[in-house]
Amino acid sequence: MSDDHEVTVLRLGHRPGRDERMTTHVGLTARALGADRVVMAGSARDRTDTIVDITERFGGPFEVDVTQEPKRLIRDFEGTVVHLTMYGEPVQDVEDDVREAHAEGPLLLVVGAEKVPFEVYENADYNVGVTNQPHSEVASLAVFLDRLFEGRELDREWDDPDRVVVPMETGKRVVDPDEAEADE
Ligand code: SAM
Repeated sequence: MSDDHEVTVLRLGHRPGRDERMTTHVGLTARALGADRVVMAGSARDRTDTIVDITERFGGPFEVDVTQEPKRLIRDFEGTVVHLTMYGEPVQDVEDDVREAHAEGPLLLVVGAEKVPFEVYENADYNVGVTNQPHSEVASLAVFLDRLFEGRELDREWDDPDRVVVPMETGKRVVDPDEAEADE
């Protein structure tokens, strides 16, 4: 988020046909919950359009990039690499250390789909489990980001939105930003 060091999410292992919505949701979750950038590896590159479109409509900043060399991105990353995996150390045991590392420099959060190559485990500074039960990359990313930012991401402001949601007890209201300001 704005005053913090950058947080990038790397989406590995996308399986065309099977992971389409999941990969899009990794990107949307990264954006909504405070990361600055998602990098789609390999065939996940085709899932960037929706995330770019949502950023254009609901605001940024949020970057969407692709890579054909995810292992190199991890190896050469100048900052702290956190790989989210059910086999890792419990998030509640390492979150303070990761937060301290993020106070010093950028973070790369890696999430998988199918089996993640062992090299990723070896090259990560932290392998982190959000519970040690199998679930999903979207769920682990959401919980991890919320722990990292300690809830601050929920109050984040968005730059240059075309549309703003007005929270309501019942019903849906989406307005343009001038109207939202006039309501305040
Ligand atoms: N065997 C995988 C693993 O290493 O966590 C489960 C595969 S799961 C379908 C796809 C991705 O979800 C994983 O690569 C991991 O990033 C994430 N994931 C699933 N369960 C997780 C958990 N309990 N903690 C952290 N990440 C998890």
